[in-house]
Amino acid sequence: MIVDTTKGMFINGDWVGSESDSWIEVLNPATREKITEIPSGSDIETKKAIQAADQAFTEWAEKTARERSTYLYKAYNLMLERKEKLASLLTEEQGKPLNEARGEIEFAASFLLWYAEEANRVYGEMIPASKKNKRLWVVPKPVGVVAAITPWNFPAAMVTRKVAPALAAGCTVVLKPAEQTPLSAIEIVKIFEEVGLPKGVLNLVAGDPEKIGNEIMESSTVRLVTFTGSTRVGKLLMEGAAKTVKKLSLELGGHAPLLVFEDADLDLAVDQAIASKYRNCGQTCICTNRIYVHSNVKEQFVNKLEQKVKALQIGAGSEETVDVGPLINEEGLAKVKDQVQDATSKGAEVKTGGKQWEGPGGYFYEPTILANVTDEMKIMSQETFGPVVPVQVFNHEEEAVAAANNTDYGLAAFLFTKDLDKAITVMEKLEYGIIGINDVFPGTAEAPFGGIKQSGLGKEGGHEGIREFLEMKYVSVAVADKK
Ligand code: ADP
Repeated sequence: MIVDTTKGMFINGDWVGSESDSWIEVLNPATREKITEIPSGSDIETKKAIQAADQAFTEWAEKTARERSTYLYKAYNLMLERKEKLASLLTEEQGKPLNEARGEIEFAASFLLWYAEEANRVYGEMIPASKKNKRLWVVPKPVGVVAAITPWNFPAAMVTRKVAPALAAGCTVVLKPAEQTPLSAIEIVKIFEEVGLPKGVLNLVAGDPEKIGNEIMESSTVRLVTFTGSTRVGKLLMEGAAKTVKKLSLELGGHAPLLVFEDADLDLAVDQAIASKYRNCGQTCICTNRIYVHSNVKEQFVNKLEQKVKALQIGAGSEETVDVGPLINEEGLAKVKDQVQDATSKGAEVKTGGKQWEGPGGYFYEPTILANVTDEMKIMSQETFGPVVPVQVFNHEEEAVAAANNTDYGLAAFLFTKDLDKAITVMEKLEYGIIGINDVFPGTAEAPFGGIKQSGLGKEGGHEGIREFLEMKYVSVAVADKK
C-alpha cells in the first residue's frame, strides 16, 4: 500500500482516521488471514465528506471541460504505471487470479481515458422554436454532489466507472467502497490526490454501510446516488431516495442465460461459457448463471465443457497459473453450497466439482457443472455468484427464449449461433439490457452497460454514462424585435 491505512479515509484533501476509533479488518479470501485494518467511518465522516464535496462543487463545475479532463488523463497514466502494484493488491483483497486483476486495472483505467475524452463532448441542443421571436436552448449542467457506492467484485473498475464520468461532468464525489475491498479504492483516490485534484472534489468514506448509506440518503446536498450491488440494497436506496427526490443510477443483480443453438460453434461456446462462468469465481453480475443447450448438441457440448472445466486450476489468485480463485467470504461460500445442495436434493446430477476445496484455507469451491436441472431449483432463479453452472436442454427457439426471459432480472444474456437470422430474431426477443452474440465480454468503456427490469436503472460507460451525471437546463429566450 502507498497510503498509510490507519488513515484510510480521504475528506477535503486530507487522509483521516475514524472519529469513533472503530476499525474494519480486510481479509485475504484465499487464506482468511488479515491483510490490514482500516478506520471504519460512519455518519460523522460521511457528513464531513458531503460538506467538503458541496464546498468544492461550484469551482469544479466552473472549470472548463478541458481542465477537468486533464486530471483524468493524468490519473489514467498513473494508474497504468502502477498496474502491477494495483493488480497484486486487488488480488490480495478480492481473490481473483492475478491476470484477471491486471485486466481489471486496465479496464478501470479505460474509464479514466474514455471520460477524459467524453468530458469535452458534453453538448447541449438548440431547438428550432415554433415562434419567430423565441430561442430555445438545452444546456447540460452537472447534477451536483454525487455519492458513489461500489461493490467488492470489481474493487477498481467499479470505482472508476462511476468516479470518472462524475468528475468529467463537473460533479464532486463522496465514494463509499465495499467494506470487503476498500484498499484498491484507497489507492485510486491516492492517484487522484497525486495528480493534484482540488481538495473536496473526491472524498472517500469507508465503514458501516447502513450508517454511511443513511447519511447519504438523508442529505439534500447529495443529488445523485450511483450504486452497483445487490438488488436488495438497490431497492433500499430507491426507498431512501424518495425522501429528498434524488436521482439514482443502479446497476443491480443479474441471472444471465447463455443459449447454445444447434448450429453454434461448440468449441467457441464452451470456451466462452467457461470464461463467462468461472471468471472472478463466478462473482460478476453478468456471469452466465444458466446454460440452455439444444437437445441435438447437448451431449457434445456437456462433454467438452466437462473436460475443460475439470482442467481448470483452482487456488490462490496470487499464483500465476491459477484459473479460479476463492469466493469473497463465508456468506458467498454458504450461498453456493446451499444452491448445489438444493439442486442435488431435487435430482440434479453433479458432472464435476460439487464441493468445497480447502486449499490454502480460503473460501474455495470447486468449479462445478450441474445437469438434469429443473426450474424448481433455486439456482435457476437466484443469482449464484459462484463457480457453478446448471445446464438445461431445449428443443425449440421459442422454448429457449421463454426460459431465458423467465426472470425478474434483465442485465445480460448471451447466445451462440452461426445463423445470422436466428441471432437477430433471438436478440430482439431477449428482455435484457445487454446481449452478447457469440461474445460473453460485452463490457467496455465506450458502450452503455446497464440492465432492465429488476437489474437496475441507467447506464454506465459510453456517451450515455456521462448523461447520468447531468441535468438538462432548458432556457427559453424571447427576442423583443422579432414578432
Ligand atoms: P453484496 O451483497 O454483494 O455484498 P451489497 O449490495 O450488500 O452487495 O453491497 C454493495 C455495496 O453497497 C457495498 O459498498 C455495501 O457496503 C453497500 N451497502 C450495503 N448495505 C447498504 C445500505 N443499507 N446503504 C448503503 N449502502 C449499502
